[in-house]
Amino acid sequence: MSSPERTWKTIESGPHTYQEALHPVVRKNYGKWKYHEIPRPGVLKHVAESGDAIYTVRAGTPRQDTVDMVRRLCEIADRFSDGHLRFTVRNNVEFLTPNPDNVEPMIKELESMGFPVGGAGNCVSSVSHTQGWLHCDIPATDASGVVKSMMDTLYHEFKHMEMPNKVRLSTSCCSINCGGQADIAVVVKHTRPPRINHEHLSMVCELPKAVARCPVAAIRPTVVDGKRSLMVDEAKCICCGACFGACPAMEINHPEHSKFAIWVGGKNSNARSKPSTMSIVAHNLPNNPPRWPEVTDAVGRILTAYKAGGRPWERVGEWINRIGWKRFFEETGLTFDEDMIDSYRHARTTFNQSAHVRF
Ligand code: SF4
Ligand code: SF4
Repeated sequence: MSSPERTWKTIESGPHTYQEALHPVVRKNYGKWKYHEIPRPGVLKHVAESGDAIYTVRAGTPRQDTVDMVRRLCEIADRFSDGHLRFTVRNNVEFLTPNPDNVEPMIKELESMGFPVGGAGNCVSSVSHTQGWLHCDIPATDASGVVKSMMDTLYHEFKHMEMPNKVRLSTSCCSINCGGQADIAVVVKHTRPPRINHEHLSMVCELPKAVARCPVAAIRPTVVDGKRSLMVDEAKCICCGACFGACPAMEINHPEHSKFAIWVGGKNSNARSKPSTMSIVAHNLPNNPPRWPEVTDAVGRILTAYKAGGRPWERVGEWINRIGWKRFFEETGLTFDEDMIDSYRHARTTFNQSAHVRF
């Protein structure tokens, strides 16, 4: 029996080249831009060497987008930006148009639908936050709710360019911090090792997987009531929560013992000063849903002090470096305590306990 003739054409799998998705004006002038300006909050104007100009209208989105919402955004793109839109890493949505007459009607339409236009220039842009419980298997708490609560209080700062420089916020629902470096980062902080639910563990967990997840080799196999189980060396455990993803029976999330910490001064760019890593300025803030008032209050204090005292174009970390930590704590009203001092002596001890790092 002969095999049927193949009628389909084999194509390479994978995404199309990104250039196909660019707006024609962007594609034509790719890499040949002369300057850009921000004529009003949430609108950027890029001018190319060829003389072409393109306007970008930026709006905040709720991040957890429904199909209906995406369809409505696409309708706006069809009407005002030649069918082109893009989402940014901070969950803003941007529409690009070479026609300046489209800008104001597009802003009106977006705002009437509840999408605030802003987030560009010297303001607080949307929060870069983690996949959280939507996609990731590690989170032992909610990050998206914290973001929503924070941005509700920072709505004005999203829509107005009143900060000394741009402000980037991030949130993370584990200490791995995939929310990333930011001017201000809100990171969950578990304050005690996981309690092991031995009954569940023997039913739901692949033991080697949980053991392998631990970055400091604190988990060991054991036997409890005649069943194979796990135990945690609490002196080694750094309360990172990584085992919880592999095994929900490693119960580290707790309404009282899972807290939030705030870090400040992160900067990835090398404009004006070198890139910098973040420092902790508040911890043990209660994980207090549904509005997390203690977290939003602390972030608000930092932003209020920075807005009042930062010099033009100073990022949060540069402002702190200039005024010093003592004044930072005085002006924000946050409480400094000795647990925030990292002399790296403790880190050296914990690194040496790691299964991976030896020195
Ligand atoms: S911060 Fe941690 S738990 Fe949250 S999405 Fe990222 S890796 Fe997962
Ligand atoms: S919380 Fe982190 S350090 Fe502690 S046992 Fe689990 S994986 Fe290991």
